Amino acid sequence: MRKNIVAGNWKMNNNATQTKALINDLKETLGVISPNCRVLISPTSINLSSAVDAVHGSVIEVSAQNMHQALSGAYTGEISADMLQDIGVKTVILGHSERRTYFGENDVMLTEKVSTALKNNLEIIFCFGELLEDRKSENHFKVVESQLKNVVLALDASAWKNIVLAYEPVWAIGTGETASPEQAQEMHAFIRSLVNSTYGKTIADDVSILYGGSVKPSNAQEIFSKEDVDGGLIGGASLNAIDFTGIVSAF
Ligand code: PEP
Repeated sequence: MRKNIVAGNWKMNNNATQTKALINDLKETLGVISPNCRVLISPTSINLSSAVDAVHGSVIEVSAQNMHQALSGAYTGEISADMLQDIGVKTVILGHSERRTYFGENDVMLTEKVSTALKNNLEIIFCFGELLEDRKSENHFKVVESQLKNVVLALDASAWKNIVLAYEPVWAIGTGETASPEQAQEMHAFIRSLVNSTYGKTIADDVSILYGGSVKPSNAQEIFSKEDVDGGLIGGASLNAIDFTGIVSAF
């Protein structure tokens, strides 16, 4: 059965001291509400190891924001799937729109990253979503279909136990503009129908599909109440323990 998930993407925020402080705050605030969903945080790579230590004994899981597609080698500045596994990180976000836009990640590269992550037994939060111009020209379904078909819908069925999907319309990321609950539901139902037609009902029913784009405590409950929305990938609001906990408590 699919799980509800709230995952925070801290991006390039929080130094080591701030990482420990925010985790301590989260342990306290989340401890009060006892979450009804999985809760993940994604600190920057230099702080992943200390974050894994700091969340020990709590409900919080730690995921990475990115990894390189090669197993190892001469790739200055990069981190590998094995390095993540070795420090106890079990999940990696791949395909975030900022990686696609600023670091040239395309479907070919993401196919390699997904394959490497799966070979190393990492769970993947796979991000995708249309640009504003795609939505305005009513191409959003086509764009999302192609982003999925070119990468995750080409995988073997057995890979899907390690895949979480995160629909993130780029026009809603960090803009304060949110897809309406109806727009989110419409797209999530479409995504689930694509998984269904490729792999069948069991896998389609089991995959968690997160929504990302300016989710806040004030709108989380309405968005998460939609049938095909199984949680959120949270940027800005994941940097504050009260706000993030407010979103988690929507479940
Ligand atoms: C994100 O970057 O994945 C995101 C959803 O950011 P924000 O919540 O700030 O829009």
